[in-house]
Amino acid sequence: MITVPQEAVAFEFNPTPLIVAERGEVRQVCRVMVHDLPMPTDATLRVRRGDVDVSFPLDLPAGRSTHEVYLPEVTEAQGAAVELQAGDLSWRTEVDFTPVRRWQVFFVNHSHTDIGFTHTPSAVVEVHNKNLERALEFARATADWPSDARYRWTCESAWQVQNYLRARPTDRARLIDAIQDGSVEIEALYIHSYFDLLSREQLVRSLAYAQRMRNELGAPVTSAMICDVPGCAWSLVDLFAASGIRFLAIAPNNFLAPFHATTDLPRPFFWQGPAGGRVLVWYTDDPYWAYIEGARHGFWQGLEQVEEKLPAKLARLESDGYPFDAVQIQLGSDNRPLRLLPATIAREWNRKYLSPRIRIATPSTFFRHAEEQWSDRLPVVTGEWQSSWSQTTLHYPQEAAASRRNHGTLDLWERFAVVADWVNEAFVYPTAEVAAAYDASLLFDEHSGPKGIWRPHSPEEANQALREGYQMFEEATLPARDGLATALASATNALSGGETPAAVVWNMLSWPRGGIVEVDVPAAWIEPDASVVDEETGQAVPHEVAEPAGDEARVRIRAGDVPAMGYKRYLFTRDEGQARGAAPSASLTVKGDSATIENEQIALTVEATGGITDLVDARSGASLVETNTWPGLNALVRYVADPHGPEPGGDFTADKRLYEGTPIGGRVVNPTFVQTEEIVSWRSLDRVTVSTSAIIDDLYRWRSEVALDGDQIEITNRLSWLDRPADPEVLYILFPFASPSPCIRHAAQYAVVDPCTQTLSGSSLDSFAIQHWLDLSTQDHGVTVWSADLALADYGGINMQRFLRRFAPETGTVAFRVATGRSLPPRDGDPFGRRPCLELRFAIRPYRGVFDPLAAHHFGEARTLPLHVAALPAQHPGFWNEQPGSLVELDSASVMLTGLKGAESGDGYIVRVWESAGRRSLARLSFPRHTLLAAWEETPVEAEIGRVELFEGGLRFELGPFETATFRCVLGR
Ligand SMILES: [Zn+2]
Repeated sequence: MITVPQEAVAFEFNPTPLIVAERGEVRQVCRVMVHDLPMPTDATLRVRRGDVDVSFPLDLPAGRSTHEVYLPEVTEAQGAAVELQAGDLSWRTEVDFTPVRRWQVFFVNHSHTDIGFTHTPSAVVEVHNKNLERALEFARATADWPSDARYRWTCESAWQVQNYLRARPTDRARLIDAIQDGSVEIEALYIHSYFDLLSREQLVRSLAYAQRMRNELGAPVTSAMICDVPGCAWSLVDLFAASGIRFLAIAPNNFLAPFHATTDLPRPFFWQGPAGGRVLVWYTDDPYWAYIEGARHGFWQGLEQVEEKLPAKLARLESDGYPFDAVQIQLGSDNRPLRLLPATIAREWNRKYLSPRIRIATPSTFFRHAEEQWSDRLPVVTGEWQSSWSQTTLHYPQEAAASRRNHGTLDLWERFAVVADWVNEAFVYPTAEVAAAYDASLLFDEHSGPKGIWRPHSPEEANQALREGYQMFEEATLPARDGLATALASATNALSGGETPAAVVWNMLSWPRGGIVEVDVPAAWIEPDASVVDEETGQAVPHEVAEPAGDEARVRIRAGDVPAMGYKRYLFTRDEGQARGAAPSASLTVKGDSATIENEQIALTVEATGGITDLVDARSGASLVETNTWPGLNALVRYVADPHGPEPGGDFTADKRLYEGTPIGGRVVNPTFVQTEEIVSWRSLDRVTVSTSAIIDDLYRWRSEVALDGDQIEITNRLSWLDRPADPEVLYILFPFASPSPCIRHAAQYAVVDPCTQTLSGSSLDSFAIQHWLDLSTQDHGVTVWSADLALADYGGINMQRFLRRFAPETGTVAFRVATGRSLPPRDGDPFGRRPCLELRFAIRPYRGVFDPLAAHHFGEARTLPLHVAALPAQHPGFWNEQPGSLVELDSASVMLTGLKGAESGDGYIVRVWESAGRRSLARLSFPRHTLLAAWEETPVEAEIGRVELFEGGLRFELGPFETATFRCVLGR
């Protein structure tokens, strides 16, 4: 006989959430685990609980074994004494039984879309085409299975469906059938972008294809998924709600984005947008595997693995305080082929267990359950969910900056195309071209960056992926650039010329404004004593001839009061006695390696390195530069984060810190050698510019132009690479403003966000994506900053990968992220970053008094959507003979026009408006040069809501704080 030492054998007894039927009786499955048994033994398990006193014979093998026994359920919590008797030995334990939840596991099959990353973009299209084709086959093959186990497939991005219908147009009817019977569901978002970087209209276009699927396939489209990307624009919440999207399933990847480590949000929750729209949000709870979570619970292995892992998962949810009886589990890895296995597991499981019930489902099925059962118990939360991953764009800074600028170009293209359509009978509105360019812009701004491959099979494959990504960039930018030029020319060419040649200045914003414009005209228009006269006032305006070159001359004109959504003409006359320019009012002093410019409002000093070391607002008396820590405003600063993870291609799951938000330190690289090349200055129309050039450590050439124009400072930097730096440094441009603990605000797409108080729990606080402006203010003065090319700003200093848990910047330093130093010049075969020279433009507007959102919007949007100008010869045979002025009038204190485009239906024009100051506001919209025949209010994606009564030939409406509206207007002449 072998004596077993009692303490050597571990014995566990666990009630599980599994329920079975045993000879017609409902029983709870309990698991018995025995470890380290030295030899096989016959044993008896005895459970005594209230009236229950049952014994089970167990054959225990040597080593480790698991056994199941079935017990009646309890109706209320009850303790039990459990004893395992093996020969002379026995082990005892106390166990608490609680009533068993009737779990429902809604299991969502999909395949996550990365454009690139695993394959070339073109191969990714094929993967998803094949997936949807097979999903339709699986749905048919399992049509006679029990309902819960029938195959169901979710198209995680609408882009998958667009590609499928292009490649397999004959499958349309099959797809419609599958959508109708619920075996295929299309999610709303076109693709998973860095949403915080997208423009307003890109956000709308992200949902536009879903509306097409509703119109053309009868797809309901009520839910959206965001997988992988750890962030989503707050403004998208209102657009979801307004577009019929009630549900949002998010699966944030915590790599360098510790959402789960920092969030205290329950699941699910209602997320409320800036204007009050709501979506019901579910998030996956695995920080490592996110949308691949189903694989962790055995669904890519088999029934046995699910039986082992799923009960533990459900028990853990219960013990962690999860209050509900249903969960969603999704499974869809990066561009992975679909598998039938989860459905066969569900079929076997449901045969075996009464509960939990595994339901092969789509996201909306789960959400409808949640909405019906739990709505009144869910919290409503607000705030921006800033993505931690948008910084990936620092690896391709040239194209990222161009993409940001292109957002404005796309917007202007549509506005000018509508105007051209109105005034020029020969113009054809480019509906399809605009849609294709927006699609390409969303694909380029998607979260796979430049579309490279993480682990390419060969250098050829790596470069092929990048070339395809670059093609998306070109398809987004080139048509917009050319289309805008064509529309501007078409609109101007339709105008009849007058007695004298003119420059036509167009303003596509809904308020009048001025500014300096440059136009190329025949040299003969500009004679030595010529004047440029504002046609409306008859007054000469300041102008100058910038670059006479042969028969052409570039003329700069200071335009003023250009009508809202309209145009004005400046006439080139030969009248003598008119003033040619204005008397200079700004003074310029150059002293050694610095220059000082001063006018009545502002005084500033620029160093030969391009830094602004002194900036005083004479109106408020505020000195705005903090020079204790940093070398002035507009300083190029190099920063190296500590090594913390694998190089690209390595095992990025190996380092836990990358998921859990352990702050990563870093150091500023102080240049050892700065060679200043020049400091020169000039005046132009009372605008004084100082230009500098410096070489930093033989790595970078840094050229800056700093100009003072009225009360605004305009900066253009040009950064080029002389060599690739040795360290993986990140370049920043710093603006250390001297405002301790400032009040911070910035423009999001359809919101003004205070990042100190308006972020979603779990959001990145290290940097923020800015749309048109950011603003720092104190009680009596402030400064608004516009950034043309860079989207991401750290507040309070450099916060790269610090994973801030609380956010209260103590300094007014704004650090714009520029590039990773080693991103340029590109390696052989890489089309990104060719001829690298980053243009980095900023404008600064110091002000006296309190923050005014309208002033900030007017400052920022005027620069994002600048005035445009074109030459109009005398006697030009146009056919639009109307007087210059506004074509659209929007009369309101704080409602602005945020979009003007042709209706997707081809019938009329879409006008988008937004309340921009956060207060209820009345507005009137009219078309002074046209007759408004009829108008409809529509959703952002142009589904009709209802006809709108006209009032005195226009529309009258009221918007709540930050609310948007979309009107379709049919016009006649
Ligand atoms: Zn992804």
